[in-house]
Amino acid sequence: IQFIQALQIPGIKDEKKEPELTESQKKKLSIEETKKSLPVFPFKDDLIQAVREHQILIIEGETGSGKTTQIPQYLHEAGFTKDNKKIGCTQPRRVAAMSVAARVAQEMGVKLGNEVGYAIRFEDCTSERTVIKYMTDGTLHSEFLSEPDLASYSVMIIDEAHERTLHTDILFGLVKDIARFRPDLKLLISSATLDVAKFSEFFDDAPMFQIPGRRFPVDIYYTKAPEADYVDACVVSVLQIHVTQALGDILVFLTGQDEIETCQELLQDRLRRLGSKVKELLILPVYANLPSDMQAKIFEPTPPGARKVVLATNIAETSLTIDNIIYVIDPGFAKQNHFNSRTGMESLMVVPISKASANQRAGRAGRVAAGKCFRLYTAWSYKHELEDNTIPEIQRINLGNAVLMLKALGINDLVHFDFLDPPPHETLVLALEQLYALGALNHHGELTKLGRRMAEFPVDPMMAKMLLASEKYKCAEEVVSICAMLSVNGAIFYRPKDKIIHADTARKNFNHPGGDHLSLLNVYNQWRDSDYSTQWCYENFIQYRSMKRARDVREQIVGLMQRVEIEMVSNPSETVDIRKAITAGYFYHIARLSKGGSYKTVKHNQTVTIHPNSSLFEELPRWVLYHELVFTTKEFMRQIVEIESKWLLEVAPHYYKQKELEDSTNKKMPKTVGRSTRTD
Ligand code: ADP
Ligand code: MG
Repeated sequence: IQFIQALQIPGIKDEKKEPELTESQKKKLSIEETKKSLPVFPFKDDLIQAVREHQILIIEGETGSGKTTQIPQYLHEAGFTKDNKKIGCTQPRRVAAMSVAARVAQEMGVKLGNEVGYAIRFEDCTSERTVIKYMTDGTLHSEFLSEPDLASYSVMIIDEAHERTLHTDILFGLVKDIARFRPDLKLLISSATLDVAKFSEFFDDAPMFQIPGRRFPVDIYYTKAPEADYVDACVVSVLQIHVTQALGDILVFLTGQDEIETCQELLQDRLRRLGSKVKELLILPVYANLPSDMQAKIFEPTPPGARKVVLATNIAETSLTIDNIIYVIDPGFAKQNHFNSRTGMESLMVVPISKASANQRAGRAGRVAAGKCFRLYTAWSYKHELEDNTIPEIQRINLGNAVLMLKALGINDLVHFDFLDPPPHETLVLALEQLYALGALNHHGELTKLGRRMAEFPVDPMMAKMLLASEKYKCAEEVVSICAMLSVNGAIFYRPKDKIIHADTARKNFNHPGGDHLSLLNVYNQWRDSDYSTQWCYENFIQYRSMKRARDVREQIVGLMQRVEIEMVSNPSETVDIRKAITAGYFYHIARLSKGGSYKTVKHNQTVTIHPNSSLFEELPRWVLYHELVFTTKEFMRQIVEIESKWLLEVAPHYYKQKELEDSTNKKMPKTVGRSTRTD
C-alpha cells in the first residue's frame, strides 16, 4: 500500500513534566513510580482542593493522563470515602469498567471486589467493603431505581463524558437534578480533550479543571487511493510497518469481533509464511466480549526485540490506554446502532468515523514518543467525507429503554427533561408508542403495573416483555435460557478455519425447525445436561466461555424473575408457547416472505433478508420474527423464529389488525432458484 504523508499533529509541551522515561527505565518502575509519572500526578493537591471547593467540576485531560485510574484514588486518600460513602465512576464500556477496576485494585494492593470493585450488567463484583466502584453508565441507571438520591455515594464521576452514549447523556440530566438537593454530593464530569465548554455550560457554568496533556508529534499518512478491503489493507500495513519501521507497538482500529478475528487469522497466516525472516510479532485482540484474562494481556510489556500489534475496536480510542503504541492504523470505520424513526427499525451498521474520532485515534500514537498514524483512506475523504463530530447516541438510537427507565423514576414529562442535546421529537414519540403497544404505558403515558415490572430488567423493553410473557405461557425456564443465550450473541459457535466442515455439521445438530432461538435453547439445554462440561463444548464446537457467561447471565435473570414473582416453570415439549412468549415481546420485529426469498417488514414494508447463519436460511418460512437487524451489504435479520400470523392478533391485538396479516397467496411460496434446498 502506498501512503502519502500529509501533515503532522504537533506535540504538546508540558513545562511541569520531566522528560519521558525510556522503555527499559519504565519497566523497572514500581507501581508507585508509575503513578507518579502520570500527567495528572502534579495536579493531585490542586484537584483535591478544587473538589472540596466546588460541587461540580468538569475535568478535561488527554487520554492516558490518569483521570480514570488516579482521581478516585486521590479522593479516597483525601477522605471522601469516610462515613461509609463510596466514590462511583461510570464508564460507557463494560471492558473498560472491568479492566480499570482491576488495575486500580492492583495499584492499591487489594483484591478486586473488596475495596475496589466493578458492576456491569448481569455482574456485580463489589462487596460491603467497596469504596471505589467502577460501573457502566447503564448500571448506574439501574441503581437510580433502588437509590434515587445516590445516598451511598459521596462522589460520582461521570467519566468518558465525550463518548456521549445514551446512558451517559441521560445521567447528565439525572445527576444535575440530584446535585441540587444533595449539596454534599460531589460531581465530576470527566472528558478527553474535546468540546468540554459545552459540559460546563450545561452544569450551570461549572468550573473546568484542565490537566495539561503530554503528547508527542504524530505524522499522519493517507492512502493514495481508497482501499476496497480495509481488513486486508490493515494486514498489509501491519506487515509493512513490521518489516520497514523501527520497533514500537502497533494499534489497529477495527469494527468488531468478527473483523478482529479475521484480521488475526490473516496476519498469523502470512507471518507463518514469512517464517523466521522477520522479528517476533505478538498479535493481541481486544473487544467487548473478550474474557478478562485475555484482556489483561494487552497491558503486558512487549518482550525485548519483539513487537506487539493490538487489534482493537473503538474501545482503544479513549476508554483504554495501551502504553508504548507508536503506530496507529486507522481504516476509518466503526460499528454504530442506527435507528430510523420513520420505519421504527434499528440496525447495527459499519459507518465512517468522524474527524474528531480520527484525531483521537491518531493521538494514541504519540503518547510515549513521536508516532505515526496510517489512515487507510485518502486525504480528500478525510476532508470532505468525514463529519466533524460523532452524532451523540441519543440522537440516533431507539429510546425505548431510556424512556421506560425515566418513567420508572417518575419523570413523566420527557419533552422538558434537561437533555444536553435533546433527542429528535419523532424518536421520543415512537418510543412512547412502542411502550404503549407493549403495555408498559397506559394511554395517559403513565407507567402500568406491567411497565413497572419491565423496568426491573436491565434489557431492551421487548426482551423484558418477552420474559414477563413467559409467565402466561408457562415456559419461564426456557425463555430465560433463550434471553441469556441472546445476550452473549454472536460468540457461541466456534468455527476454526481448518475445521469448518466439522464445525458446521456440529452446529446443524442443534438446529431446531422452529428457528434460531430454539436452536440456542437446544445448545444451552444440552450443555446443562452434560453438567456444564468443557469437554462437551470442545466436542461440539461451542465456545465454553460464552456458555459460562450465558449461565451467569441466566442466574441473574432468574434472580430478577423472582423479584417480580414469576415462577420458574418449564414447558419443554411445547415450542409454540415459547414462540408465543417471544412474539409477545418482539411483535414489532415481524417480516413476511415476499418474492425472491426476501422478506418485507409488516408495518413498513422494508426489504430484509434472512442472515446466512440462520438455521432457517434455506427454509424460508412465511412469517418470521427477528431478534435484530444487521446492515452489511443489505439489511439482514439475525436470530429468527418462525411464527404464525394469528399469534400476532393474540399477543398484540391493539397493534395488529386482521387485514394486514392476510396472506396474499395461500400456497406456500416456491423456493428461489439458485438457493440450495435441504437434502435431509
Ligand atoms: P485516562 O482515564 O486519563 O485516559 P487512565 O487512568 O485510564 O487515563 O490511564 C492511566 C495509565 O494507567 C495509562 O498509562 C494506562 O496505560 C494505565 N492503565 C490503565 N489500565 C491499565 C491496566 N488494566 N493495566 C495496566 N495499566 C493500565
Ligand atoms: Mg479514562
